[in-house]
Amino acid sequence: MDLEFDDDLKAFQQEVRAFLDEQLTQDIRDATAKTTTVWVDKEVVMEWHRRLYRKGWIGYFWPKEYGGTGWSPTQQYIFLQECAQAGAPRLIPMSLRYVGPVIFTYGTQEQKDYFLPRILSGEHYWCQGYSEPGAGSDLASLNMRAVRDGDEYVLNGSKIWTTNAHVADWIFCLVRTDNSGRKQQGITFVLVDMKSPGIKVDPIITLGLDHEVNQVFFDDVRIPVSQRVGDEGQGWDYGKFLLEFERAGGASGEYKAAIQKLRRMCAAQVSGQVPLIKDPYFATELSRLEIGVMALEMTERRIMSSVAAGQRPGPEGSVLSATGVEINQRISELAVEAMDYYAAPLPPPSPSGMVNDDHYPGPSYGAAVMGKYLNKRAASIYGGAKEIQREIISKAVLHL
Ligand SMILES: Cc1cc2nc3c(=O)[nH]c(=O)nc-3n(C[C@H](O)[C@H](O)[C@H](O)COP(=O)(O)OP(=O)(O)OC[C@H]3O[C@@H](n4cnc5c(N)ncnc54)[C@H](O)[C@@H]3O)c2cc1C
Repeated sequence: MDLEFDDDLKAFQQEVRAFLDEQLTQDIRDATAKTTTVWVDKEVVMEWHRRLYRKGWIGYFWPKEYGGTGWSPTQQYIFLQECAQAGAPRLIPMSLRYVGPVIFTYGTQEQKDYFLPRILSGEHYWCQGYSEPGAGSDLASLNMRAVRDGDEYVLNGSKIWTTNAHVADWIFCLVRTDNSGRKQQGITFVLVDMKSPGIKVDPIITLGLDHEVNQVFFDDVRIPVSQRVGDEGQGWDYGKFLLEFERAGGASGEYKAAIQKLRRMCAAQVSGQVPLIKDPYFATELSRLEIGVMALEMTERRIMSSVAAGQRPGPEGSVLSATGVEINQRISELAVEAMDYYAAPLPPPSPSGMVNDDHYPGPSYGAAVMGKYLNKRAASIYGGAKEIQREIISKAVLHL
């Protein structure tokens, strides 16, 4: 296992840093820092997406033959770490990490030719239609129907918690085409244009007053059979393939940047005459978080090293997800403790998810603290609830 970067990789790291210095503008960084939701406003993130596209780096994860960079897993890791530490918005994974790889692995030539260039250019912004009322952790219980009618499928049912469905151009869905076998059988993976007649998107406003998730209703929505990926009834396999990549992304760079910011906040906040950074409780908790992130980074590098040796990310991705979420939530809790009474006001976010601090009574660095804290409560649910991640770790990693 090789966890160190050689000279070529260090040179690559410098090249990424130089690009970030030049192209990641202060406007994009500020908008990202002020965002309380998981995903930064579409306009902002797509501006960043287009800058990477022009550089030829947007397909950081994709093979060259489909317009990707062809980077090694280690280069991808360095790229993600550097972007996160520099304060770049997270790229929309539903397009680049999820549906893109499913299409280039299982799609027809026609699907590859049509969809892949549009994902890379940013013309198509995707959302993910997996969960339904009654099918979340137990995803295979999904019920949304797709009934074949000649060269079309007719879709009826609903998807819930669909992030960014209100701004998406396309949705990929797991739908039920057969009920006769085991519940994992008879599931099919389809691609649906959000402008299709019969689709209705209802907002779900969260505890933090954000509009990030939605319920999407399908009422006799017709799609051509050519928008099915792979074989009918085999969608469970494609869906699982996608989830492996969902749980394998490196996040330690983002947490390191968040802890540095929290350190600055604790240096500015004073209790009595003493800055919080010198208070034993805050000093200990900050160190605890830093140690946790160092351990997480080592696990990321271990997984990256085995992927570089030709293996798939595998169930170990659940270790990253479970421990990363704990660190992420703890950072937001400590920020609330540090801001004390000034954490109590919840300035309403704008429709873009950015906090509006015009009337916030405290120092500006505290305005987004409560919004972020509330939004991060959902981190132990989306992308697989923490109990489920622990179940995967106990069975598939520890073989208990
Ligand atoms: C903010 C947010 C964004 C999301 N975005 C999307 C999206 O874009 N697309 C999409 O398809 N879905 C999305 N989801 C849905 C998400 O994947 C589900 O919420 C998640 O899988 C949990 O399912 P559930 O909500 O039905 O809860 P349930 O599965 O009903 O779980 C409820 C509780 O029971 C526990 N539980 C369930 N089963 C077990 C078990 N076997 N053992 C132990 N405990 C168990 C869970 O851990 C949880 O605490 C999003 C969710 C949130 C909160």
